[in-house]
Amino acid sequence: MTYLPSAERYHTMRYRRCGKSGVKLPEISLGLWHNFGHVDVMETFRKILHLAFDSGITHFDLANNYGPPPGSAEENFGKILKEDFRGYRDEMIISTKAGYTMWDGPYGDWGSKKYLVASLDQSLKRMGLDYVDIFYHHRPDPETPLEETMAALDLIVRQGKALYAGISNYPAEEAAKAVAILKELGTPCLIHQPKYSMFVREPEQGLLDVLEENGVGCIPFSPLAQGLLTNKYLHGIPEDSRAAKSTGYLQTSQVTDEVIAKIKQLNTLAEQRGQTLAQMALAWLLKDSRVTSVLIGASKPEQLADSLKALENVDFSAEELERIENILK
Ligand code: NDP
Repeated sequence: MTYLPSAERYHTMRYRRCGKSGVKLPEISLGLWHNFGHVDVMETFRKILHLAFDSGITHFDLANNYGPPPGSAEENFGKILKEDFRGYRDEMIISTKAGYTMWDGPYGDWGSKKYLVASLDQSLKRMGLDYVDIFYHHRPDPETPLEETMAALDLIVRQGKALYAGISNYPAEEAAKAVAILKELGTPCLIHQPKYSMFVREPEQGLLDVLEENGVGCIPFSPLAQGLLTNKYLHGIPEDSRAAKSTGYLQTSQVTDEVIAKIKQLNTLAEQRGQTLAQMALAWLLKDSRVTSVLIGASKPEQLADSLKALENVDFSAEELERIENILK
């Protein structure tokens, strides 16, 4: 059956300006790291993408290696773009990245110009696109000069293969250097994608300030700590969960008694706020205006529907914030 996007798709989503750029992102964006590979069920992820777009999610985040197997998330996304979203490309911000191992030999990993340019060409082919909106360097490379990696991003933008440049997983100091180099090259850094959630607080140690000072947007990834910050692990490890799957990045060893004890307390607080824990975890990030959008994953449309309701209450009292800090301590 032909997919027809909802006519009401822009009625409830809110959009935030990405740093000091001209582009706005939805407060919730969808990532395709897990759940969209050849190992997953196309009819399920097709429904997730439809619900996302129908709900005003305009931003879809990929990377060369997403799957498994690597590359298959881009292939599947490309197929659905062609079959269902033809005619809607200009309503979407599509991003991809390179920086982790993608192919054998010295040119399929890290941050050389050789790798980044070739990888983006492959990504564009897999997705059937002429350009992506954002191209990220996925992680810092300790060996390649930062100047070379940033020059590659600048080149890619000038070639029109990406509209904007981004960085991911860069600690504060390296991020500041990368942002300065890009500025000098004339291709400002649009956005940084760090790991940030109630359970992972590093970006608060300087990175968020660097981004704000330089007018760079911030899109936290794994805002639900891969599902830990939801109600799914409250009573053990469900069979269909990321922690239980052999292809999942979350390890059962990470679901410790200590973590479960925290999740239980956070869940009680969320219930008192009239939210699910997933909704509270997302709202907690969105309370900070330096956060442009939260980049979630979903393995079922119901999860996405649940997470979207976070936007109904992103305000916290001082007492609630204190209770959260005490639980996380
Ligand atoms: P999340 O922290 O949002 O975790 C998503 C997982 O949480 C889902 O797969 C699901 O787990 C569970 N979940 C989601 N919503 C709910 C809900 N409402 N109720 C119960 N469970 C829920 O994010 P991800 O770790 O998936 O990362 C999101 C995106 O961030 C990626 O797709 C990618 O685009 C980006 N990313 C970037 C990285 C980088 O290095 N730049 C690294 C990692 C991610 P289950 O599958 O068990 O059902």
